[in-house]
Amino acid sequence: MADDCIFCMIADGTIPADVVWSDEFTVAFKDLHPQAPVHVLIIPREHYSGMDDEVPPEVHAALCAAGPAVAKVMGVGATGYRLIVNTGPDAGQTVPHLHVHLLGGAPMSEGMVALA
Ligand code: AMP
Ligand code: ZN
Repeated sequence: MADDCIFCMIADGTIPADVVWSDEFTVAFKDLHPQAPVHVLIIPREHYSGMDDEVPPEVHAALCAAGPAVAKVMGVGATGYRLIVNTGPDAGQTVPHLHVHLLGGAPMSEGMVALA
């Protein structure tokens, strides 16, 4: 638990979130400002600031494994979804607790990136 980390507080239930799925290593909840009909954030229960924060392989594996599980729960397993991990300033990471965006529920544009 990192002090003042909003996602740590969601993971331990201190502040509310619309949790849709959880397991031993991860918690998934709806994004507050959805950018697609389905927009869920998958986070590790433990605090890591991002992909570069010496994340143990089992936590990486759990985040990846959560993707299809959460997609199924959200009803987009068959129609498809996109997983995104913003890392650092160029990628626009705003919350310094590792998180995977799961986006789906409508066809997405072919290009994955709109450069600023
Ligand atoms: P990123 O820009 O990759 O760091 O994404 C952070 C995401 O967290 C944004 O999509 C925000 O809308 C989302 N977010 C921030 N605070 C909350 C919250 N309390 N509950 C749900 N989503 C949040
Ligand atoms: Zn945290």
